[in-house]
Amino acid sequence: MRRKYLVVSVLMLSLMAGVLAGCGSEALKADVVVVGGGGAGLAAAIEAADKGASVIVLEKQAFLGGNTAICGGLVPGVGTELQKAQGIEDSPEKYAEDILKANGYTGDPELIRVATEASADFVPWFESLGAEFLKVVPFPGNSVDRLHQEKSLSGAGLVQVLKEAAEARNVKIMLETPATALIKDANGAISGVKARTKDGKEITIQTKAVILATGGFAGNKEMLAEYIPAMVDSGLLGNPGNVGDGIKMGMEVGADVRFMDAYLPHAAVNPEKTLLITWEAIMRGGILVNGEGERFVNEALGYAKCAPEVAAQDKVYIVFDDNVKALVEKMASYESVTVEAANADELAEKLGLDKDTFAATIAEYNDAVAAGSDKFGRTVFEKPFEGKLSAIEVKSYLLFTTGGLRIDASARVLDKDGNPIPGLYAAGETAATGIAGSGYAGYITGEGLLAAFAFGRIAGQHAGETVAAAK
Ligand SMILES: Cc1cc2nc3c(=O)[nH]c(=O)nc-3n(C[C@H](O)[C@H](O)[C@H](O)COP(=O)(O)OP(=O)(O)OC[C@H]3O[C@@H](n4cnc5c(N)ncnc54)[C@H](O)[C@@H]3O)c2cc1C
Repeated sequence: MRRKYLVVSVLMLSLMAGVLAGCGSEALKADVVVVGGGGAGLAAAIEAADKGASVIVLEKQAFLGGNTAICGGLVPGVGTELQKAQGIEDSPEKYAEDILKANGYTGDPELIRVATEASADFVPWFESLGAEFLKVVPFPGNSVDRLHQEKSLSGAGLVQVLKEAAEARNVKIMLETPATALIKDANGAISGVKARTKDGKEITIQTKAVILATGGFAGNKEMLAEYIPAMVDSGLLGNPGNVGDGIKMGMEVGADVRFMDAYLPHAAVNPEKTLLITWEAIMRGGILVNGEGERFVNEALGYAKCAPEVAAQDKVYIVFDDNVKALVEKMASYESVTVEAANADELAEKLGLDKDTFAATIAEYNDAVAAGSDKFGRTVFEKPFEGKLSAIEVKSYLLFTTGGLRIDASARVLDKDGNPIPGLYAAGETAATGIAGSGYAGYITGEGLLAAFAFGRIAGQHAGETVAAAK
């Protein structure tokens, strides 16, 4: 009888200890806490786990991905096998020069150098996680083709690869659990994160390092009014959950901010379906035409520089022919918003444009293609328009912001005196990488994912190594 009682007591005690240990280690403690489950956050989580750290990812929404899942999934990379196969010579230095040239040398040269060097390993790293890349595609501002198209043709495909890799490394992903505040210890180091679970419970997670990867603040009208007033009334094509949480949490513990006026508008969002139309359609021969049936800008300047010009028109259409459709895989996915016609006259009729003006626009464009330049300064063409013509209505939208917490080359968040706040990192849109400089004109396509994957991976590696060294 006494023996049986003893066995039961021991069993109960071990059960209780197990539950307590389980609560403590699984739910409320991790070596590294990543706040935000987009591209930067998931990349950071994978790297930290690969350094031996236990990792929790907090994601406020019911799904992972953020802007990374919405974006076109074009991964920048230099010196890749795909580039070599197409005879393209590229290097981190060439990429850095393109970026600095685009932002008028107003960006942060050190962080740009670090990011472009890191980009040499993006494609091989993604491939090691299971991604497959099809080809490199041209985009304005990149002097050579270096944006790698994944087989899913979407950012969602990249997020799926990252999610599976994180799960395979036992990273604990907590959805619908927004982080709300950082906790500092007596020495000024970050020692915890406060969060709210999906059933509304306030929790505290003890940790040795926090990586803030909550995206930018394009979804926060108050912050837009303060830092980018020109965009307050713009439509948003981006994750509505990116409302500056990480930036504000960092500022609350003394972090410095930089480049807060930097943002990216896009000149080609279909308003009916809030659908981004790839600018590859332009680079492969498409044009922008306004409600008068006329072109109005050098489209090859890029979707950011064309955005104010598009915003100034009443109506704008991307017009393209079957040659563009054949060259750009994604065009097929825009079928529901594409107006097709047998020729220019029929398209003008369907869009309500003046037939003669539109016919003259097409004829003038075809002459420009033959001549190799036009009156707007465009020199990027494919073939003259031939046969059937199609159009998609577009408007200018705000996509994301790129200013935020000041970081160093190890993605450590810096205070106002330029000193790292121990245990605090930031990456992606939350960090002020200075890649696009100030304003909207300095961004070249690929820089969003460049900042996310470069500094996400660097933050995860540094945090993981620091935690391992202290064990
Ligand atoms: C329409 C569109 C197209 C784009 N196309 C390209 C492209 O082709 N190439 C390119 O390089 N870049 C592109 N970009 C930019 C690029 O997608 C982003 O800059 C990049 O993916 C940002 O990654 P991130 O991890 O910093 O943020 P995100 O991927 O947005 O992830 C942030 C995550 O943090 C979560 N979060 C926010 N607050 C909290 C909180 N308090 N607690 C927990 N979680 C929180 C959000 O819900 C979100 O899931 C595009 C962006 C958009 C919007």
